[in-house]
Amino acid sequence: MKFTFLGTSAGSPTADRNVTAMALALDESRDWYLVDCGEGTQQRLLAKSPQQMESPQRMESHRGTRNRYTLSGLAGIFITHVHGDHIFGLPGLITSASMQGRKDPLTICAPEGVESFVRHSLKCAAVCNMPFELNFIRSDQADFHFQDQHFKVTSHELSHRVPSYAYRFAERPVTQSMDQDKLEALNVPRGPLWGELQSGNSVTLPDGSIVHPQDVRQPLRSGRVAIIGGDNDQPDLLIDAMKGVDVLVHEATFTEPVLEKVGPQYMHSTARMVGEAAEKGGVSHVILTHISGRYRKQSSDFALSVEALRSEAQSVFRGQVELAEDFGCWALDRDRKLTRME
Ligand SMILES: [Zn+2]
Repeated sequence: MKFTFLGTSAGSPTADRNVTAMALALDESRDWYLVDCGEGTQQRLLAKSPQQMESPQRMESHRGTRNRYTLSGLAGIFITHVHGDHIFGLPGLITSASMQGRKDPLTICAPEGVESFVRHSLKCAAVCNMPFELNFIRSDQADFHFQDQHFKVTSHELSHRVPSYAYRFAERPVTQSMDQDKLEALNVPRGPLWGELQSGNSVTLPDGSIVHPQDVRQPLRSGRVAIIGGDNDQPDLLIDAMKGVDVLVHEATFTEPVLEKVGPQYMHSTARMVGEAAEKGGVSHVILTHISGRYRKQSSDFALSVEALRSEAQSVFRGQVELAEDFGCWALDRDRKLTRME
């Protein structure tokens, strides 16, 4: 499961951070999902990362990431809330997909207001004869669910100035492959007998013994689960949904001292609030994003460096804390290890 950040700034972009968007993909699958689509997201998908300049190796790895996230491979868009820094990229991205000749219908899961914004924008811009359908699903309805071959997705209400939602992506159960060591230990000859077992049939070996499929299957492993949150000032609202979750991606717009100065009216979380909720919810990895432009990667004043966010979250959370940055990509493997990809 891969998390690639296309925009990680709160409210408006900075020189290093664009407004919110994140790509989610299941390992090497060509299909991918976009969560939020701030202005310029489509350009972010194409843009060269600054790291590309550093070494040919990094260039290669980034090129792989970039090529994977094509508009024809986009399997669904999930919008957390209607604020501009989360949706202003939609009309442009959809128009480009149309110009590139996408044919498959595009599903957009979003709360009320987003469909109207998109359809009006396209109409005002005289976009017509699109070669694919837009299929909107209201994610603010109680019966919302999205399911395809990779994920089951549910929405969870948050607390913000407008209705805002988190999406919980649960990987569909993984098909059980056969364990080669067990097949060899039981002396099952390679060939048609392996195929029969893979198809779920018992087989009789040349020596007369019978092998059943369950004798040679790898143990069933539960799928990986991630929550991608929208803007929210009460991360505790997600505690029930955090059951079984491996990765929580959540906004941490401020640190506690800055929130005290700014006041609560913008309805955002601090890194500490996210860390406390993640600790209570039993999540093992947190990625903090939607970071206020006042925090810098390097700052002589630690209180205004992004590391201040990490240390605040880490002071109350025993799991792994990561700080999202634009073009940053993290992979969660089947052993539930979260690693930053180079
Ligand atoms: Zn926002």
